[in-house]
Amino acid sequence: MSSKVKEIVIVGGGTAGWLSAAIIAAYHQKANPEQFKVTLVESSDIPTVGVGEGTWPTMKNTLQQIGISEYDLFQHCHAAFKQGGKFVNWVHGNNDFYYHPFTLPLGYGRIDLAPYVSRIENFAIDSNFQYKIGEAGLAPRTLADAEYQGQCNYGYHLDAGAFADLLKQHCINKLKVKHIVDTVKNVHLSPQQHIDKIELEIKGNLTADLYIDCTGFSSLLLGKALDVPFKKTDDVLFNDSALAMQIPYKESQQNIACHTIATAQNAGWIWDIGLTNRRGVGHVYASKFLSDDEAEANLRSYIGEGSEDLDARKITFQSGHRKQFWKNNCVAVGMSAGFVEPLEATAIMLVEISARYIAENLPADNNLMPIVAKRFNQQMDYRWQRIIDFLKFHYMLTKRQEPYWLAHCDKRSIPESLQEDLSIWKYRGPTLADFTSSNELFPAASYQYVLYGMEFKPDFDKQAYLYDQSAQAEKVIGRNHQLTEQMLSSLPSHRDYIESWLATSNKRV
Ligand SMILES: Cc1cc2nc3c(=O)[nH]c(=O)nc-3n(C[C@H](O)[C@H](O)[C@H](O)COP(=O)(O)OP(=O)(O)OC[C@H]3O[C@@H](n4cnc5c(N)ncnc54)[C@H](O)[C@@H]3O)c2cc1C
Repeated sequence: MSSKVKEIVIVGGGTAGWLSAAIIAAYHQKANPEQFKVTLVESSDIPTVGVGEGTWPTMKNTLQQIGISEYDLFQHCHAAFKQGGKFVNWVHGNNDFYYHPFTLPLGYGRIDLAPYVSRIENFAIDSNFQYKIGEAGLAPRTLADAEYQGQCNYGYHLDAGAFADLLKQHCINKLKVKHIVDTVKNVHLSPQQHIDKIELEIKGNLTADLYIDCTGFSSLLLGKALDVPFKKTDDVLFNDSALAMQIPYKESQQNIACHTIATAQNAGWIWDIGLTNRRGVGHVYASKFLSDDEAEANLRSYIGEGSEDLDARKITFQSGHRKQFWKNNCVAVGMSAGFVEPLEATAIMLVEISARYIAENLPADNNLMPIVAKRFNQQMDYRWQRIIDFLKFHYMLTKRQEPYWLAHCDKRSIPESLQEDLSIWKYRGPTLADFTSSNELFPAASYQYVLYGMEFKPDFDKQAYLYDQSAQAEKVIGRNHQLTEQMLSSLPSHRDYIESWLATSNKRV
């Protein structure tokens, strides 16, 4: 018997649950409220993970699609702009740093500037104005630019709890998502391993055509009830612990960093994220190489004076993902599907991609669900492998000598795909030809920023005859330096911009 998919139940009210509800409801329910229903169940007894403060530029589109203004985001979530990542101490550990900015190199797709830059470490400075904007702590736009527009590409830093709350209010009040506060105590399966119903502690049973598991690390529906195995990736990415702290600014007018700062430690790294009202700082580390006490000492030493008054919150995680993400009438989104260390803030972006796929491919007929599920699984599995490769790529070229870093450089811990890439890039560096899938998450540019930032210089001389575009490259590099100077003199400081923009937007409301 065939039937339409018209009822969706989402279990979990963290960022994954509310973002999925918003994306799916904005796509289907708003246009068809009589025939399509999204219900979200969340437990008041089980807290959300409460971290996850960095997003990708993809969030700009997502917010526009679900109908949240940037003004509301910044007001409600103490948000700030994120223009990329700054990686400190990853090469030698002597205050070296490089940038992975969100803006593509100038001339990208027309000319590869790498063979022509003065020093390979200067690739990001010579090809992109965002490096210097990051160092100067500037906003990506001026008051003359409109919401969601930027002179440089950007995502956001935001307060995770406040973001989930903003999404919740928006889902309930604007997108007509039904909200149930209750705890799922049982998941009932049919003999064919479909979810028949979920049983709530107080409000009885709930049924749906499709169940979305957003229960975080517990993976209650897909992992536990449907028994989908977990594929560990701790042989490649060793980190399994985090200590998180929230730090007030020393002075209220202190500028806000406009990128995530990731500072390498002896066995992990520390994230530093600037919001308008505080910083979020945390140490991600591998328990095999570092005790909790040592990690806490690293974190407090990084923060310096005043850290003794702050409490650290410990989070442990298993690095990896489910072998299947969509099984029968259940699909996992968010940390119930998997989690690897947040080095490139990939988790919320995967939630956006997953929820959009579900919304756009929701089958008109229930019988088509297995085909949609199969495709989703193939695409998501590919994306997970690419994320794992790219995160590992940050580690494997280091010259640091601590056991943790040496273990990361051990060939046995490096995926074969990445070893193959590097063997090619020894001579020509990453190019568009290496990244042809439409499911690619990181373009060649991202690999270029990391490879050259890690001071890896391909031997371009081997095929020197290929690099005969010096005059054109010089022009593009010159143009980039010109643009950089223009932006340095026209863009306001990050904090000044946010405060002035919110004040003037406020007057307009
Ligand atoms: C240290 C760290 C740093 C991170 N940094 C970033 C970052 O910078 N950028 C990024 O993109 N991501 C980051 N992440 C990941 C990000 O935090 C998560 O992807 C995001 O918060 C989504 O989590 P979630 O909604 O899947 O799970 P959770 O927040 O854990 O939510 C789970 C929900 O399920 C509910 N639930 C559980 N069991 C039941 C039940 N039986 N009945 C009813 N409800 C139930 C809970 O009540 C809760 O509402 C980070 C993660 C960690 C650990």
